[in-house]
Amino acid sequence: MKAHDGMYIDGAWRPADGRETIDVVNPADEQVIGKVPAGNALDVDTAVRAARAALPGWAATPPAERAARLAALRDVLVARKDEIAETVTAELGSPLKFSQAVHAGAPIAVAGSYAELAATYAFEEKVGNSVVHHEPIGVVGAITPWNYPLHQIVAKVAPALAAGCTVVLKPAEDTPLTAQLFAEAVHEAGVPAGVFNLVTGLGPVAGQALAEHPGVDLVSFTGSTAVGRRIGALAGAAVKKVALELGGKSANVILPSADLAKAVNVGVANVMSNSGQTCSAWTRMLVHRDQYDEAVELAAEAAAKYGDRIGPVVNAKQQERVRGYIDKGVAEGARLVAGGPEAPREQGYFVSPTVFADVTEEMTVAQEEIFGPVLTVLRYEDEDDALRIANGTVYGLAGAVWAGDEAEAVAFARRMDTGQVDINGGRFNPLAPFGGYKQSGVGRELGSHGLAEYLQTKSLQF
Ligand code: NAD
Repeated sequence: MKAHDGMYIDGAWRPADGRETIDVVNPADEQVIGKVPAGNALDVDTAVRAARAALPGWAATPPAERAARLAALRDVLVARKDEIAETVTAELGSPLKFSQAVHAGAPIAVAGSYAELAATYAFEEKVGNSVVHHEPIGVVGAITPWNYPLHQIVAKVAPALAAGCTVVLKPAEDTPLTAQLFAEAVHEAGVPAGVFNLVTGLGPVAGQALAEHPGVDLVSFTGSTAVGRRIGALAGAAVKKVALELGGKSANVILPSADLAKAVNVGVANVMSNSGQTCSAWTRMLVHRDQYDEAVELAAEAAAKYGDRIGPVVNAKQQERVRGYIDKGVAEGARLVAGGPEAPREQGYFVSPTVFADVTEEMTVAQEEIFGPVLTVLRYEDEDDALRIANGTVYGLAGAVWAGDEAEAVAFARRMDTGQVDINGGRFNPLAPFGGYKQSGVGRELGSHGLAEYLQTKSLQF
C-alpha cells in the first residue's frame, strides 16, 4: 500500500519533526502493509499555524467558490472510489464490496451534500431590525476513529470547509492510509494551501496536543466516551466549543404487530455489518415475550449465515476486548445461541457473529458498547416495559422501531431518548442530523445541522 512518510501541511507533504513511525496492519492477515509518521506536538503546532494563516482567506472566499472546491473534492473521491475501497479494506479488513458501497459510497454522498449546502446555506439572515451573520468558528481540530475511516473524516471536514473554517485532522492510528488518500484528494480538488492539514500520530500524543492547542477554536471528536470526556473537560477549561460523537447501545424495538422475520433479519444484518464496529448499531433487540423464542431462533439462524461474510475486527486489542465481553455475557447468565468467544480463524482478528438470548437489562452485555459482532436479545412485557428498557442505558445515539403500522412505530419513536430512529428499516440520509442524546455526545453531524456546528453568529442591529 502506498504510504506518505510526511505530514500534509500547508498544501505539501512535509517531513515530520520526529523519526517515530506507526505500523499499519491488515487485520485480516496481520501483515504490516505500510508505515506512517507518528506526529508530535511540534507537528501539530506547525499544522495549526498553517490552518490559522489560511483562515482569513478561506473565510472570506465566497460560499459559491467553497462549494465549487467541495464539488471538485466529491468528483475526485468518485474518480478514486476503487482505490478508496481497496485502502479501507487493507487497513480495516472489511469485505471489498462493503468498502465500495459504504466506506467509499457514504463519504461521496456526504461530500456532495456539502457542495450543495455551501452554495445554498443562508449565511446571512434578516431577523426583525437585525441581520444575523453566520461566520466560521475558526480553526477546527478534527479527531476521528477507524470504524468508518473516510466517512468520519468527511463528516467533519466537508461541513467545516463549507462553513469557511480551516482544519487540522488527526485520524485514527489504525487507518491513517485512508486519511492520507483523503489529503491527496483535497489537494487534487484545488483546496488552497493550509485550509486542510493532516497530522498522523498516536491519540495520547498528537491527538492530545491538538485537543489542547490554544490555536484551535473547536475540537470535533468521534470515538470512545473515555477520550470524549477528556476532550470535553479540556474544552470546558478553555471555554471552547466542542462537538463529541461517542458511543451507543441502540435498541431495535420490534412491536408485536411488526413483520417479525423481516425485523429480526434486518436487525441481525445491522449488527453484523462492519463486524459490529458501528456506533449506531442496534445491539439490543427488544422482542415481546410471546414472540421471543421465535425471534431468538430466527436471529441465531441469521447470524450463522454471517460466519464467513464479515471481516475481522480492527486489531488484536479490539478482538480481545470483544471476546472478553462475550465471556462476561456467559458468566452473567446470558445464553449463547450463535457464535461465542473462540476465534473462528487462526490468522486475522476475527470474531464469530454472536447472539445472546435470555439477556436482562442490567447485564454488562446489555449496557456497555461492545463494538463487535455481538447481538443481545431482550424480552419485554408490554410497550411501557419496552420503552423503559430501550431508554435504560447511559447512551442515546440511534435505534429502530418496527410495527405493522408506520404511525404506531412513529408514536413509539417519539418517546425514545435517542438522536435517530429508523422506522421499519429506514435508509441512510446524508442530510439528516446525526448525533447523541445523553452520553452519546454533544452536537450533530451531517446536513445543515452539521454545518451549523462550525458557525458562530453575529447580530448587526439597525
Ligand atoms: P479512541 O477514543 O481511543 O480513539 C478515537 C480517536 O481519538 C483516535 O484518533 C485516537 O487516536 C484519538 N485519541 C485517543 N486518545 C486520545 C487523547 N488522549 N486525546 C486526544 N485524542 C485521542 O477509540 P478507540 O480506542 O479507537 O476505540 C475504543 C472504543 O471507542 C471502541 O471500542 C468503541 O466503543 C468506541 N468507538 C466509538 C466510535 C464511534 O463512532 N462513536 C468509533 C470508534 C470507537
